[in-house]
Amino acid sequence: MIPVHSYACKQAKGPLTSYAFERREPRDHDVVIDIQYCGICHSDIHQVSDEWGGSAFPMVPGHEIAGIVSQVGTNVSHYKVGERVGVGCFVDSCRKCSSCYDGLEQYCIEGCTLTYNGVERDGKTPTQGGYSNKIVVNENYVLRIPDDLPLPRAAPLMCAGITLYSPLMHWKAGPGKKVGIIGLGGLGHMGVKIAHALGAEVTVLSHSLKKQDEAKKMGADKFYATSSDFRSFEKLKGYFDLIINTLSVEIDWNRYLNLLALDGTMIVVGLPEKETLLGASSLINARRSLAGSVIGGIQETQQMLDFCSKHNIACDIELIPIQKVNEAYLRVINSDIRYRFVIDTKSLV
Ligand code: NAP
Ligand code: ZN
Ligand code: ZN
Repeated sequence: MIPVHSYACKQAKGPLTSYAFERREPRDHDVVIDIQYCGICHSDIHQVSDEWGGSAFPMVPGHEIAGIVSQVGTNVSHYKVGERVGVGCFVDSCRKCSSCYDGLEQYCIEGCTLTYNGVERDGKTPTQGGYSNKIVVNENYVLRIPDDLPLPRAAPLMCAGITLYSPLMHWKAGPGKKVGIIGLGGLGHMGVKIAHALGAEVTVLSHSLKKQDEAKKMGADKFYATSSDFRSFEKLKGYFDLIINTLSVEIDWNRYLNLLALDGTMIVVGLPEKETLLGASSLINARRSLAGSVIGGIQETQQMLDFCSKHNIACDIELIPIQKVNEAYLRVINSDIRYRFVIDTKSLV
């Protein structure tokens, strides 16, 4: 077994503290990765707080992993020792259902194996994530990080990047399309950068005007405050082709649906603790659609990384040692981060 240093949450809502555990020796198709950086996603906070239910402890969060291959199993063909790689939100799936077959492992009919707070396909071994110094993953669930993407700024692409790239591609954001991004956090700021690179007109809908200048530098064409200025909802009525809601808190979806043009779609990616009520009129009045999307498949995640490399896109980050993780969680909850915390795992050993 491989000894691992990590930080874990031992009980719901508890602090994260130092935790030692072991990972399996690499099987024939496994890659051992020395983790160098791991982003802090708001989903980590939802799960250590058990806001979605079913959390298992001790929990080592982290699914925005970037590192270097340090060992490979005997039959590994895609990766060599020394290569720059990433791991996202899942480390396995059934590999035989129609979703897996189509490269949509995130929608695996049996449920994909989450990188942490999940159970391996043996049905009993808990998975543990990237707030740790090593991880062992089947090579088919590992991503290649292009050389020109700095590793710390690439780590959050594994979740925040793909979660926005996938719906923007699926709903064909591009020239002539008006895209609204609700919430300029870790996910939202990647949405602005990617939608801009795709050639869409991008509008940020943020609760205040505080992040306006930064959003414009990321490629936002327009910026509206939603809590501090209610006139925004009048001004933007019927305006957007696509809106992506990245908020970690519940909002009145009906108000935002009214901002969609005829046949427009609002895609929900944020997953707050509480559910939202929906009235039919905001949908039927302009043949609007409400949709959801979760991360992306392995092939699409690789495409996203290559797209980001081509368009010189990476995450805006604040690098921290693991010892600051509990403080960082509070700052994420207070939206006091520009725009993603990334843990430097050197601080673990
Ligand atoms: P984040 O960095 O904390 O960003 C969330 C944003 O929501 C904040 O920056 C803020 O934007 C807004 N917000 C937060 N608290 C608010 C409040 N009280 N009132 C109004 N607005 C508030 O979070 P994230 O990592 O981007 O994740 C966002 C959500 O997506 C989470 O629920 C997470 O679990 C979920 N998620 C889903 C997927 C998926 O595949 N579907 C993947 C990853 C994460 P402004 O300051 O601009 O208003
Ligand atoms: Zn995430
Ligand atoms: Zn499957």
